[in-house]
Amino acid sequence: MSATVNDTHDPALRCWVDSAQQPEIDFPIQNLPYGRYRQAGSTQGWRIGVAIGDQILDLRATGLIDTDDLNELMSWSSEQRLQLRRAISLGLREGSAQRQAWSKLLLAQSEAEMTVPCRIGDYTDFYTGIHHATAVGRLFRPDQPLMPNYKWVPIGYHGRASSIRVSGQQFKRPRGQTKAPDAAEPSFGPSRRLDYELELGFYVAQGNALGEPLSMDAAEERLFGVSLLNDWSARDLQAWEYQPLGPFLSKSFASTVSPWIVTAEALAPFRAPFVRDAGEPAPLPYLDSEGNRASGAVDIMLEVSIQTRRMAEAGQPAVRLTLGNSREAAYWTPAQLLAHHTVNGCNLQPGDLLGSGTLSGPQPDQCGSLLELTVGGKQPIQLPGGEQRTFLEDGDTLILRGWCVRDGAVRIGLGEVRGTVLP
Ligand code: MN
Repeated sequence: MSATVNDTHDPALRCWVDSAQQPEIDFPIQNLPYGRYRQAGSTQGWRIGVAIGDQILDLRATGLIDTDDLNELMSWSSEQRLQLRRAISLGLREGSAQRQAWSKLLLAQSEAEMTVPCRIGDYTDFYTGIHHATAVGRLFRPDQPLMPNYKWVPIGYHGRASSIRVSGQQFKRPRGQTKAPDAAEPSFGPSRRLDYELELGFYVAQGNALGEPLSMDAAEERLFGVSLLNDWSARDLQAWEYQPLGPFLSKSFASTVSPWIVTAEALAPFRAPFVRDAGEPAPLPYLDSEGNRASGAVDIMLEVSIQTRRMAEAGQPAVRLTLGNSREAAYWTPAQLLAHHTVNGCNLQPGDLLGSGTLSGPQPDQCGSLLELTVGGKQPIQLPGGEQRTFLEDGDTLILRGWCVRDGAVRIGLGEVRGTVLP
């Protein structure tokens, strides 16, 4: 079963950090995500922080843990993780005896430098967005958009962990081999079809031993939390290289994550039943469980915005490209991804990252990539100031945001992930 709603989610809770009380803030006391930070401009070691309002609480300095290694905390049992969450919540509540001591352990987020939240040993990117898979498949195979395996096997490929960076990443436009459909031979140069992918990143908590698959129930308990993930993609490199072994250099040049991991415990009020439409195949037994059917899905609002270099220079704010929802987009739940990943005996480790795949909704204004939004680059989108885009240009900044809302619960946010394309 997924984490259950408890006193740490109570909408009536109030926090002694003033900014945590603001409506619409991403990090109220009901959230309590983890990240790694230090004072900006310093060379201090990275510390584990908890985002609260517009501040960061130094977790080790509270005495609740004795490490600055988030992977160590990730290896804890779900019960231990829940106890830590409750202790942090109690200390931050109005009237807490810790207030005086803990108020000295805060740093404004505006004064902090963030890094990738943990050591990501391995990164696997899935393809759970069925509307994305269908729309992209239609561009290449109009008669058979979805491959016959799609509704049975959670499709994935092994991604590259070394090029994952935290929000704020700037990276050079990748170069590589491309081949135009009418060209006799490939050519070499900068990608001309650079794209983003709106994804969620699921972090693994306790791993599993090599040769010991995780059941669905165990997999649910091994989900540590979620962040935003932009899986930058060079579509022209991808089109030429992907057969027969899948994406390679078209994906491995950069991936950007948001700095805060919103925990599985914090997501408890925002879980949703896993449902399949009538006529869809039921998952095989190893991908099915009562808990998954009851509350395996996650309900997260997802937004993509863009600010071009010209917009930035003119002082124009970023403009929204799309707004969608993870539950509508994803064909598989996080626990199904963990269970499937381990079913052959493959071992996952604390801090491993599983990408959801591009989370596009069924509507055109819910697309999670430019490939879909511009129908393969054929229908440019219009931006304020008269600019057009089919794919990303140098100087473009992409911003992904995510948040959860539900009647009877306090809104929590995932923060944001931004990244900029350099020439
Ligand atoms: Mn992807």
